Amino acid sequence: MYENFDAIVIGCGFSGATAARCLAEKGKKVLILEKRDHIAGNMYDFIDENGILTHKYGPHIFHTNNKTVFEFLKRFTDFMPYEHRVIGRIDGQYVPIPFNFESADRLFGKEKSAKIKEALKKEYGDREKVTVNELLEGQGEIRKIGEFVFEKVFLHYTAKQWGMPPEKVDKSVLSRVPVVLGYDDRYFQDTYQYMPKDGYTKLFENMLRHENITVKTNVDALSLIHADAQSGKVTIGDEVYEKPIIWTAPADELFGCVFGRLPYRSLYLKIEHINKTWFQPAAVVNYPNEEDFTRITEFKYLTGQRIEGKTTIMKEYPMQYDPNAEKGNIPYYPIVGQENQALYDKYAELAGKIGNLYLCGRLAQYRYFNMDAAVAEALKLAERIS
Ligand SMILES: Cc1cc2nc3c(=O)[nH]c(=O)nc-3n(C[C@H](O)[C@H](O)[C@H](O)COP(=O)(O)OP(=O)(O)OC[C@H]3O[C@@H](n4cnc5c(N)ncnc54)[C@H](O)[C@@H]3O)c2cc1C
Repeated sequence: MYENFDAIVIGCGFSGATAARCLAEKGKKVLILEKRDHIAGNMYDFIDENGILTHKYGPHIFHTNNKTVFEFLKRFTDFMPYEHRVIGRIDGQYVPIPFNFESADRLFGKEKSAKIKEALKKEYGDREKVTVNELLEGQGEIRKIGEFVFEKVFLHYTAKQWGMPPEKVDKSVLSRVPVVLGYDDRYFQDTYQYMPKDGYTKLFENMLRHENITVKTNVDALSLIHADAQSGKVTIGDEVYEKPIIWTAPADELFGCVFGRLPYRSLYLKIEHINKTWFQPAAVVNYPNEEDFTRITEFKYLTGQRIEGKTTIMKEYPMQYDPNAEKGNIPYYPIVGQENQALYDKYAELAGKIGNLYLCGRLAQYRYFNMDAAVAEALKLAERIS
C-alpha cells in the first residue's frame, strides 16, 4: 500500500504539512503519518469550555520578515494584525519587556528614571536599542542599569527556563537581548505580525485539503518504519520504500537512540479557566523571579475574542524532558551546545547514508526554529525533491 504514495511524511506540524502541501502541488501523492490524535503539531489549537481558542502546546505568535513564508501561509488563512506585548512582574510592578523607558519610569520613579534615560541617550545617541551585554560593558549609570536588567529580568528567568543554577547562566546567551531606548513596547519588530483569524488548526485543515494528501493520525511511525544506515534502506512494514521519506519527528528515535537520547527542555502547561473578563494587563506576563512558573498567557489577547466574564490562562512550568514521565514528556526546546550538537551530528550522519531520507524541522534537525523558519526550511526541502 505504501508503494501507492510518491512520498511519505512523518509528523504533521508546520514542517511536515508544508512539505506535504508543496509536494502535492507538484503532483505527488503524499501520505502523512502522525502519532498524535490531531494534526498541526505543536501549533494545535482548540475551542475550550469557555469558548476561547486555546493553544494546547503553548502560546504561538506569528511574526516574520520572510515574505515568501507569509505569502505561502496567507493562502490557507485570513490573518488579523496582531502586535505582541509582554509585561514582566518585577519588584511587584508590571513593566514592559523588552525593558524600555516606560519600564524605567515605573520601576525607578520620575527623577531617577530621567537620569537613567539621559545617560543612555548621551552614550548611545539616536540608536533605537542596545543589548544587555553592551550595557554591562559600560561604566557608571549605564553599567548599573545593565546589572539591574540582567539580574531582575533575565538571570532567574533563564535559570528557570533551562534548569540551571543562576551562577551557571552564561552571560553570552543574553548577548542579543535588547533594551529599547524609547517607548516602543512591541515585543517583535518584524514586518509581518499577525494571528490566523480562525486559529492554527483551521489553517492546517486548509493546507492539508488537497486531493494528493492523505493524513493518518494515531500512527506512531516508529512501529512501522525501520531505517538501516548500513544497507542505506528504509522499510515500512515489510516493504522497502525507495521514494522520498521526510522525517520531522526526533532524529535520535529514528535510529533507536543508539548513541543516547538527545536532551530537550520540556514544559508543564497548566490551563486555568477564570470567571473574570480579564486576568492580566497583557497577552503574556513574565515572572522572572519568585514563582516556579516562567510566564502566564491569557489567550483572549491573542485571539481578539470578546467574551464577557470568562477567560483562559496558561502557566508554564519548565522541566527536564523525560519521554516516560507523566509531566514533561514532550520535547520542546533542543538544548543546543557543542556536546549535544556532536551527538546530533552522529544521527545526521546515519540519516545521510540513506539516500531517500530527509530530516526536516525542529525535532529532526535539533534546532530551535520559530514557525516561520520551520516553514521556510520545509519549502526549501520540497523544492529540492523532484
Ligand atoms: C512553548 C513554545 C512556544 C513557541 N512559540 C512560538 C511563537 O510564538 N512563534 C513562533 O514562530 N514559533 C514558536 N514556537 C516554535 C514552533 O512551535 C515551531 O517552530 C514549530 O512547531 C515547528 O514545527 P515542526 O513541524 O518542526 O515540529 P512539531 O510541531 O513538533 O511537529 C512534529 C510532529 O511530529 C510528530 N511525531 C513525533 N514523533 C512521531 C512518530 N514517531 N510518528 C509520527 N509522528 C510523530 C509530533 O506528534 C508532531 O506533531 C514555539 C515553540 C514552543 C516550544
